[in-house]
Amino acid sequence: MLNLILFGPPGSGKGTHSLKLVDKYNLVHISTGDIFRSETSNKTELGLKAKSYMDKGALVPDELVIDMLFSVMDRHENAKGFVFDGFPRTLVQADKFDEMLNKKNMPISMVVSLEVSDDELIKRLVKRGIESGRSDDTEEVIKQRLDVYNKQTKPLLDYYKNKKLLQSVYGIGSIEEIFNSICERINGKR
Ligand code: AMP
Repeated sequence: MLNLILFGPPGSGKGTHSLKLVDKYNLVHISTGDIFRSETSNKTELGLKAKSYMDKGALVPDELVIDMLFSVMDRHENAKGFVFDGFPRTLVQADKFDEMLNKKNMPISMVVSLEVSDDELIKRLVKRGIESGRSDDTEEVIKQRLDVYNKQTKPLLDYYKNKKLLQSVYGIGSIEEIFNSICERINGKR
């Protein structure tokens, strides 16, 4: 199995490269942000709860995220592997995830961290907000999301570094260049 975590701040290209990895290695894509957006537009109970946090640029509480993620994974028992995009985002999530993957005997193969400067992230997210109308891609909420990333999510880099799972990839350049660097890391480890 190939189980990849695509890690990085908002706007670093996790979504774009996840889709390419899914295609190339025949994996199941799990984006917690996409799932919450779909639940929100279907006005489910989970979606409405999640929206109140997303609109502020805050993280959805761990319990809600973890329960949702586990139930989505259970629906893909025969998957060849997964790309986790936007999960885990806190140490609690990472610990619970580890526990669950150990029970399933399904180790994480690699954590790919996309490295992009804050200036470039803000530029990309403002552009995405204008083009897609995503409600949390406004300058004020973007700043809040980057702050949340730095405080709550970035510490996971050390967590995975200590587990010898971390691979950092420079995330500025053409999509193909960046994607090739990601694939080189994956192929080098297999
Ligand atoms: P994303 O599309 O990954 O940028 O996620 C959009 C928003 O969904 C985030 O700003 C959070 O409010 C929420 N979200 C997505 N994934 C998680 C997660 N793993 N933990 C907590 N909140 C999340």
